[in-house]
Amino acid sequence: MEKAADVVIVGGGVIGTSIAYHLALKKAGRVVVLEKGQCGEGSTSRCVGGIRSQFSTEINIRFSLEALKAFYRFKEELGVDPEFRQIGYLFLATTEPELEVFKQNVALQKKFGIPVEFLASDEIEKRCPYLRMEDILGGTFCAWDGYAGPSEVLSGFVSGARRAGVKIYEGTEVIGIAQQSGQVTGVKTKQGTIDAPVVVNAAGPFASIIGEMAGLKVPVKPLRRQVFVTGPYRLTDGTIPLTIDFHRGWYFRQEVDGFLLSGPLDKEPSYNVSTDYEAMVEAAENATYRVPAMEKARIARGWGGLYEISPDNHAILGSVPGLQGFILANGFSGHGFQHSPVVGQVIAELVTGGRATTIDITPLSIERFAKGELLLEPMTVFKE
Ligand SMILES: Cc1cc2nc3c(=O)[nH]c(=O)nc-3n(C[C@H](O)[C@H](O)[C@H](O)COP(=O)(O)OP(=O)(O)OC[C@H]3O[C@@H](n4cnc5c(N)ncnc54)[C@H](O)[C@@H]3O)c2cc1C
Repeated sequence: MEKAADVVIVGGGVIGTSIAYHLALKKAGRVVVLEKGQCGEGSTSRCVGGIRSQFSTEINIRFSLEALKAFYRFKEELGVDPEFRQIGYLFLATTEPELEVFKQNVALQKKFGIPVEFLASDEIEKRCPYLRMEDILGGTFCAWDGYAGPSEVLSGFVSGARRAGVKIYEGTEVIGIAQQSGQVTGVKTKQGTIDAPVVVNAAGPFASIIGEMAGLKVPVKPLRRQVFVTGPYRLTDGTIPLTIDFHRGWYFRQEVDGFLLSGPLDKEPSYNVSTDYEAMVEAAENATYRVPAMEKARIARGWGGLYEISPDNHAILGSVPGLQGFILANGFSGHGFQHSPVVGQVIAELVTGGRATTIDITPLSIERFAKGELLLEPMTVFKE
């Protein structure tokens, strides 16, 4: 392992490897990624790959629109097909306040040229006759939305970064962040130290632990989300959009020849990624409520993974006051996969040019929490 680098990235998930790839494209010097286990073994491999433009804050929409371009050119640029399937996202509202929020979102999204449709309940029934309709008041649909393969995207970044000269060390846990007079000077690992003037925290749900090593409070909570997959089961011959029962915080989509059903999100932070029977029952109950024909489907498997939740469900990106060279790429709150290509790009711009130019990331600075300038994103697919 190197004794020195220009940039050390802590974490070999989709965020850390995207940052590494984009830094290498910008000729940022010796870039090293340190991963305590195997690349992708954290949230990235447990993610369900959803990609959408239907957000309700400008900053998230900007990230989504840039990310969309990146997913379209991904295969050509990185030589790996990300398997991006644009099946659309359908958000369902069952209360008047939700309907109001949806209408405001549609107005904002349309300002950005997103082809989102507001759908009345009879239109939803026509398009999706398999849904229980009695409590659905309306919804929104965007045909640009869909999902891609997390392992494909990760392997694109890993191979792209390696080709461009990035060194990726798996099985290498960072156990300390070195600093002197308010400047980061490197990292400590069990295998030795690496001197570096820039260290990026890309540790996903472990972000707060890496923050503590640097003497900082990075407000990211790990919250387990369980998901389940049915065996082969067909509802219709047509395409079924990724459908979100917003009030229940439940979603489903096709997965190979069956369906992927979301389970509950834990209330308490933990690093537990196991599955439990109660969660499976909750997923099945939500499924059979919203899609009665799902009663005949059988759950075949499931897994748990950790969302990395920030206090306002927005990413925490950029430098930190008082510790030069320490960069955060954390707190994606369940949408880090889809924004990963752009996160890599903006962090590489920040490191090499002093500021992000593709998107102004100042609103996502950690300083917003101390200043009380929190952002509000009601369009999360979970309820806390
Ligand atoms: C069930 C589920 C569904 C999801 N669905 C979606 C979705 O539909 N769309 C979407 O956009 N996002 C989704 N997400 C969120 C998405 O998975 C994350 O936002 C994204 O993977 C974050 O990537 P990351 O690289 O920051 O984190 P991770 O993939 O967790 O990578 C962080 C890495 O850091 C390593 N690490 C930690 N500590 C250390 C250390 N001390 N030293 C060295 N390495 C360390 C870990 O081992 C890990 O590999 C979902 C998440 C879950 C759990």
